[in-house]
Amino acid sequence: MNRLAALLGDHRPVLLDGAMGTLLQDSGLEDGHPGELWNLENQDAVRAAHTAYADAGSRVLTTNTFGGTRPRLDMHGLGDRLAEVNRNAARIARSVADGRGLLVAGDLGPTGELMAPLGTLTPEETQALFAEQVVALVEGGIDLVLVETLSDLAEADAALAAAREVAPDLPIVVTMSFDTNLRTMMGVRPGDAVTHLAAAGADAVGANCGRGPEEMEVIAAEMVAARPDGLLLVAQSNAGLPQVVGDHFEYDASAEDMAAHATRLADLGIDLVGGCCGSTPGHVAAIAAALGQAGVR
Ligand SMILES: [Zn+2]
Repeated sequence: MNRLAALLGDHRPVLLDGAMGTLLQDSGLEDGHPGELWNLENQDAVRAAHTAYADAGSRVLTTNTFGGTRPRLDMHGLGDRLAEVNRNAARIARSVADGRGLLVAGDLGPTGELMAPLGTLTPEETQALFAEQVVALVEGGIDLVLVETLSDLAEADAALAAAREVAPDLPIVVTMSFDTNLRTMMGVRPGDAVTHLAAAGADAVGANCGRGPEEMEVIAAEMVAARPDGLLLVAQSNAGLPQVVGDHFEYDASAEDMAAHATRLADLGIDLVGGCCGSTPGHVAAIAAALGQAGVR
């Protein structure tokens, strides 16, 4: 049986959470500082963000570790604290999830370095970068691994291999960003991602980020059409597109827009639904209400 399905139980779709970075910025994280810094210096703010999503109805909390690989942490002088950054993040999410019966997804974003031939990283080096992050997340107590916002199938393969290497019993979810004419930046189509990543051992495959709900629904339909037996599908759309409002960006999809979108994803047969950039606890609460999941645990 699919390892993630076994963890999730029968109710579908399962509600994920939304963006973390903007919540931390709203709590005072300074421009130019990575959100991961607060896994060290302001754990209360990270915990408050998880709590807001849990209260909104999220059943899976995503660790604050999108930029938790060594190359990304090195950009901010935090590379030597990689284990602490990732372990703390998992523990903070765990502290909110425990007692509420929620799951914790250990979040991995792109490594921050391109693989050959566009860049220099070999598959083995890429796998090693993901593996050291997963080790620390597992020490902190994650329930599953979520690799997200990828563009390159080779990088996804390396992340899957890393998770299998250091956490063979944990379910693995891989989502890619189909933000370039319904393909990833590297030209991968949704159906090809589903076929490839299912064969590579992912328990769930999906799409995140991107260009808003409308395109996400086209992508979701293509994923459903390619779904092999037993694979779960995931969609976490941005809350529309960013618009300049005064001195900052605001995403143009309202909570109601995202709720209607989530209902259409559920009708398509998507198993796990959440949000990405611009999605707040308010958006997630509206989705929970639309899916009839307010209070479902
Ligand atoms: Zn995003």
